[in-house]
Amino acid sequence: MWDSGFCNVIIPTVSTMIIYVLTVNLVRYLMRDNCLSIRDVSKNHSWTPIISSSNKAYYCSICESLLLNTKSVLCDSCGVCADTGCIKAADKQLVCKAITQSTEIMKHHWIHGNLPTVAMCEVCDEECDIEPGLVDWFCCWCQKCVHEACKLKINEICDFGKFKLMIIPPGSLEVVNRRRTVRRRLQLRSIIPPVWSDWKPLIVVANKKSGNNDGAMVLSMFRRLLNPSQVVDLSERDPVAALEWCRLLGDKSCNVLVAGGDGTVAWLLNSIHKLRLKQVPAVAILPLGTGNDLSRVLGWGSEWTVTLQYDGRSLGFRGSQQRKFMYNYMSVGVDAQVALNFHRARESRFYLFSHRIFNKLLYLCFGTQQVVERECKDLDKRIEVYLDGKQVDLPSTESIVVLNIPYWGAGVKLWDLGLQGNEGVGMQSINDGKLEVCALYSSFHIAQLQVGMSQPHRLGQAKTVTVIKLLDSCAVQIDGEPWSQNPCEFSITHCNQASMLMSTYR
Ligand SMILES: [Zn+2]
Ligand SMILES: [Zn+2]
Ligand SMILES: [Zn+2]
Ligand SMILES: [Zn+2]
Repeated sequence: MWDSGFCNVIIPTVSTMIIYVLTVNLVRYLMRDNCLSIRDVSKNHSWTPIISSSNKAYYCSICESLLLNTKSVLCDSCGVCADTGCIKAADKQLVCKAITQSTEIMKHHWIHGNLPTVAMCEVCDEECDIEPGLVDWFCCWCQKCVHEACKLKINEICDFGKFKLMIIPPGSLEVVNRRRTVRRRLQLRSIIPPVWSDWKPLIVVANKKSGNNDGAMVLSMFRRLLNPSQVVDLSERDPVAALEWCRLLGDKSCNVLVAGGDGTVAWLLNSIHKLRLKQVPAVAILPLGTGNDLSRVLGWGSEWTVTLQYDGRSLGFRGSQQRKFMYNYMSVGVDAQVALNFHRARESRFYLFSHRIFNKLLYLCFGTQQVVERECKDLDKRIEVYLDGKQVDLPSTESIVVLNIPYWGAGVKLWDLGLQGNEGVGMQSINDGKLEVCALYSSFHIAQLQVGMSQPHRLGQAKTVTVIKLLDSCAVQIDGEPWSQNPCEFSITHCNQASMLMSTYR
């Protein structure tokens, strides 16, 4: 009796439950993999504090009062303004730029008042917004302005204005069934490109926290001009999410504007490599922050592959390999250690300030700490350097720097320092496919080099391959990304798969 009950009821029930759970999870997994999640702006505006640098007056879009106190906010996507008391009402009553819509026909999205400075009416060509108060209108997609009285005369269809060919129109975004969406996120399934010739959307990638608030400004500016979902904040999403856009675009190519320091740029270029996209996007760089060596160089140097070979024999397993890409420089030793300490401090939850001067001070503190502690003392006894197969003699050193571009640190032309009169040493060029390798004696030496008071110990130039054998753990950095490295062998070889890069935004 019990036996037959077990066979007839429990086993089928349990197995059905297991199959159900597995299927649900499989479907979820497949769905997740094919979709890109974007912020659902229909829920809330993208509020930022109003920075009134100009004499421009702002008025609350709800109660129409003049915004005087510093706590007033502005939606950087659509331009709606509110005082603290009206934020909730504004979120409820006024819709933000709809980043997706089901129809292809686009109508103007009119915002009342708070027009851009010097706004000309699209209908009568006279200046708008000259009287005080919440007057006249502008469209947050095409940026066109009209007088209250002229508004009736304008065609209701929006042509997206002068940035049309860079905008992903809301009608082009196909979103997965809205009911499935997680709070404030939409799942984007595909992009149906508009039928405009020469359409090449722009994806903007920046970190809100980088470059002393410049990153936030860039993000805000492009949210206003483009479809806000084309603008990716790296403090919220990783660069792979930004490049998911390129994957969804399929055969259509796009431009990527990356605003940030060398670390951000290198991170993004690395991700492009990893994704193996059908269409490699053209990347433009807007330099922000302190470490901008890459963007100081006009044009582009060659790319290098750094292979990390771990020797596992002593531990009884075969060695393993890891690959990284290098665009600017690589360094082993004290300057990587300073960068690593700084990086760790910034990642810590005690780090509160993102101000440029504070960052510089902090960096200086870690630099000074190294003068005292000398963690990388006698690096030459723990490292071997080979240039094109030949081992080089090392002086007493605390840092080895491999350069692909002329600039290092805060804009010092390291290789060229004191080069005049040194017979037989080649000048550095970014196009000769050579790497320059230097040794630096101490962090005090680095400080002297930063102000051009000394010269580096030039180890030589390498054309095909540079090998650095690390016999002990040490701090390493590639393009501003520092980490602590266990013993391994780095081989740096030329890599010809350079992405198409353009520099029109510089
Ligand atoms: Zn108000
Ligand atoms: Zn808005
Ligand atoms: Zn419009
Ligand atoms: Zn007018």
